[in-house]
Amino acid sequence: MTERRDVAILGSGPAGLTAAVYAARANLAPLVIEGEPSSTSDQPGGQLMLTTEIENYPGFVDGILGPELMQRFRDQAARFGAEYVTRKASAVDLSARPFRVWVNDPADSEPLVEARTLIVATGARSLMLDVPGEGRLLGHGVSTCATCDGFFFRDQEILVVGGGDSALEEAIFLTRFARMVTVVHRRKVLRASKIMQDRAFSNEKIVFRWDSMVSEILGDTKVRGVRLRNTVTGGEEEVGAGGVFVAIGHEPNTAIFSGQLDMEPNGYLKTLDGSRSSVDGVFVCGDVQDHVYRQAITAAGSGCMAAIDAERWLEATGR
Ligand code: NAP
Repeated sequence: MTERRDVAILGSGPAGLTAAVYAARANLAPLVIEGEPSSTSDQPGGQLMLTTEIENYPGFVDGILGPELMQRFRDQAARFGAEYVTRKASAVDLSARPFRVWVNDPADSEPLVEARTLIVATGARSLMLDVPGEGRLLGHGVSTCATCDGFFFRDQEILVVGGGDSALEEAIFLTRFARMVTVVHRRKVLRASKIMQDRAFSNEKIVFRWDSMVSEILGDTKVRGVRLRNTVTGGEEEVGAGGVFVAIGHEPNTAIFSGQLDMEPNGYLKTLDGSRSSVDGVFVCGDVQDHVYRQAITAAGSGCMAAIDAERWLEATGR
């Protein structure tokens, strides 16, 4: 049977769960559609489920594991009355009110929930290399976030994969910790902006492996290196490294909003005045609208904003 709610939240990373804490404490009994277990970032808990130690979330002096932090967020919202559905939203209809959300094929099922306001916190996913060893060693030497994990690679040899601004930004940041950073790029020409290229080329700790792709990440329980394939000659060789940072771009989880919510040219959702989307009553927070900061703390902050905006919207439109 279709649930009826004032607030439904799509996504359960730091943005969605902070929105849940705030909406629940405002007695709005939010329903959180938290995603389904998978190996990607749209699983319950979001991208932090794929990290190990988090040392830059304020308040945790000794650090905290990503999954534990998300469990705490979840329990905190539940304490105030948030409820969870461990399914992935498959379709939404934002053209009529209340908004409708399905978790199955909309053609042959009732919506799971009809909601007066919707908070979209579906996050983004790092594009991955999809090579042997990558999934198994994610969080054990394979990372997608230098700001999050760079500190753990003090005095080690690190590889960064990619040739865009993200890869060079990660490489430059990692030179604070690493002995040496090797940028592995599949062509001879970088995609990154000139200024980032200049910075990387002038950094003594950064070297480049051109025309190279990672074909396998090596190591049993932690990374010990990679197998590189030369994209011109096809030749392969093993290169030792303690860490592999994949920086080949991100993709926001916005497919189900296509044609319904305004997006930036890069696919991220547009927001106006805080968390408002292009549809009145739909609010957006977290990485699905932020390709710049992408931190747990900024996502959490924007989740708070979305819940407050939704609460005020409900009040103004006569709850
Ligand atoms: P991007 O510009 O799309 O670059 C992705 C890079 O990864 C490209 O060099 C691409 O190679 C490579 N790549 C893609 N798929 C690959 C694969 N399967 N295997 C190996 N390499 C692969 O992404 P981004 O660097 O994340 O940047 C996204 C946007 O954010 C850009 O507009 C960027 O300017 C902006 N940004 C700006 C800053 C800054 O200004 N400080 C920092 C970060 C990001 P090819 O070049 O061969 O396609």
